[in-house]
Amino acid sequence: MRLDKFIGNNSELSRTQIHIAIKQGLITVNDQLINKTNTQINTGDKVICNGEIIEERKLRYLMLHKPAGYVSANSDSEHPTLLDLIDLPFKHELQIAGRLDLDTTGLVLLTDDGQWNHKITSPKHMHTKSYLVTTVNAITKDLIVSFAEGLLLKGETKKTLPAELSILDSHQARLSICEGKYHQVKRMFAAVGNHVIALHRERIGAIHLDDNLQPGKFRSLTSDEIASFE
Ligand code: URA
Repeated sequence: MRLDKFIGNNSELSRTQIHIAIKQGLITVNDQLINKTNTQINTGDKVICNGEIIEERKLRYLMLHKPAGYVSANSDSEHPTLLDLIDLPFKHELQIAGRLDLDTTGLVLLTDDGQWNHKITSPKHMHTKSYLVTTVNAITKDLIVSFAEGLLLKGETKKTLPAELSILDSHQARLSICEGKYHQVKRMFAAVGNHVIALHRERIGAIHLDDNLQPGKFRSLTSDEIASFE
């Protein structure tokens, strides 16, 4: 591959900045100073630009603890976005694997691996997502059966798939669903005359939100967590 292309792919430098750096003698390959923009390099060559090693980028897999007030999008004119919480190069290439509402908190997965994202979000895979739900009105026991049997949400023609509700106290429950309709949890509670006042995602598939991750913080997934969606 051409040196300038390699640096362009693996750093935040523009093509012009790379060419200037080459002319200024700021780039070495395997400790040899380079002065030609069309220099070819091979896999494993050590490329240094202005004292910094340029390494081939690897795919990234992250878990983020979303605080309320952040939009699950790459840009927004009104509110801060999840990407504002991430201080990594090329963060705009990260995709959000399952969005949360502005006021919802909890587990969000991000990746620049499009295929992995698809495995999580495609309806055909039906991974279970668990939410801690707090409501205005008391959560009655009959909802366990209603949610397990499926509900017809406003504006839909098909019932929701079986969902598991476990009541934690009078106004709090854990709901596990295996689909991701728009505002699904809030609409399920609205369909039974209740109203969600706090919603927190605890789990997607086998990945649980790390208890040590404070709101607004993120970490890389472990190889087992990544492989859990393979
Ligand atoms: N269901 C909702 O209603 N909102 C979310 O953010 C996630 C699931």
